[in-house]
Amino acid sequence: MSHAFMAEELARIAAAGRTRSLRTIQSAPAPRIRMEGRDVLLLCSNNYLGLADDARLIAAGQAALERYGTSAGGSRLISGNTDLHRGLETDLAQLKGTDDAVLFPSGYQANLAAVAALVGPGDLVLGDRLNHASLIDACRLSRADIQVYDHADAEHAGRLLREHRRQHRRALVVTDGVFSMDGDLAPLRQLGEATAANDALLMVDDAHGTGVLGDGAGTARHLGATGVDIHMGTLSKALASQGGFIAASGQACEYLRNVARPFIFSTALAPASVAVARRAVAIVRDEPERRTRLHANAARLRNGLREAGLPVPAGETPIIPVVIGAEDAAMAFMQRLEAGGVYAAAVRPPTVAAGSCRIRATVMATHTAAQIDHAVAAFKSARRP
Ligand SMILES: *Cc1c(COP(=O)(O)O)cnc(C)c1O
Repeated sequence: MSHAFMAEELARIAAAGRTRSLRTIQSAPAPRIRMEGRDVLLLCSNNYLGLADDARLIAAGQAALERYGTSAGGSRLISGNTDLHRGLETDLAQLKGTDDAVLFPSGYQANLAAVAALVGPGDLVLGDRLNHASLIDACRLSRADIQVYDHADAEHAGRLLREHRRQHRRALVVTDGVFSMDGDLAPLRQLGEATAANDALLMVDDAHGTGVLGDGAGTARHLGATGVDIHMGTLSKALASQGGFIAASGQACEYLRNVARPFIFSTALAPASVAVARRAVAIVRDEPERRTRLHANAARLRNGLREAGLPVPAGETPIIPVVIGAEDAAMAFMQRLEAGGVYAAAVRPPTVAAGSCRIRATVMATHTAAQIDHAVAAFKSARRP
């Protein structure tokens, strides 16, 4: 078959100003990186606690490579399950305050796995309008009936549940804990009340909350929400490794180990990734001062940008969106920031809605106050072309 359709589609994407290109980084995701031969300040990494170049994590990974080798060599159910994997699951359950946890090859796959295992044809799944793409894909993959509620609107979710619940066998509400493009929080207490009142389960994707909010336990702990049934997290953001997990009741985890296809049909995480994440979980527990520094940096950047008159919403997470508007304006803004020595990526459709293209700035615990101030100055001068 002809490949012409690809050229046509690429031309359409280019005409819309949405062609993606990869930036090449030649160093660890630390506050200062080497990118395409130039030293710049990194202001868009999810390495929130600054652990990705921590000597203790590197040593833990090296020790695991020496002892367990480079690959798990099989799925968890066949030959890929080491004591390290099980140990990390126990550590994650302790961090999240659940009975148990199950590892997956990535956060994306943890979402696909859990949603498709919990609901199917004849069931109902409700999601927030601004949910992460992996949750949206998970809902579609499940083949359950999908209802979308207005962003962070637990009242609307409750109404949809009352309207549709009875016609379905099982029901699930899924939401980001911290919304990845806006940095705001889901109303988890109210959603928990709605699911409890309507015989539904509540699942939270806490990719950006784990290790960051609620003493490291995440958004549910931060908000005092006790009605969350299924906690999803990733190892690839604050935990500075690779992989994903679900933390939940012992029964739910046992169920996932038996029915979740990404658990059954994918190779277990590489032992080095597992060992790195275990060391990171210990640091999340033992070094609250890293979170204190992270939140101080986020407040410093947020306040600095607001004082400079940039359109930054109030917030309590390290994700700070600066909404610019059109694609080309956001790209030009990013390029001017870069000329000022700061790399903060512009985010465009389909990741965010058309007309709400933005610079999505994120801070790390390891940024210095001087670096944050430099970033504010770069934003100020980038505003005037
Ligand atoms: C990053 C992210 C994921 C995917 O996690 P990976 O481990 O990177 O696959 C899922 N949900 C949200 C909200 C995310 O930001």
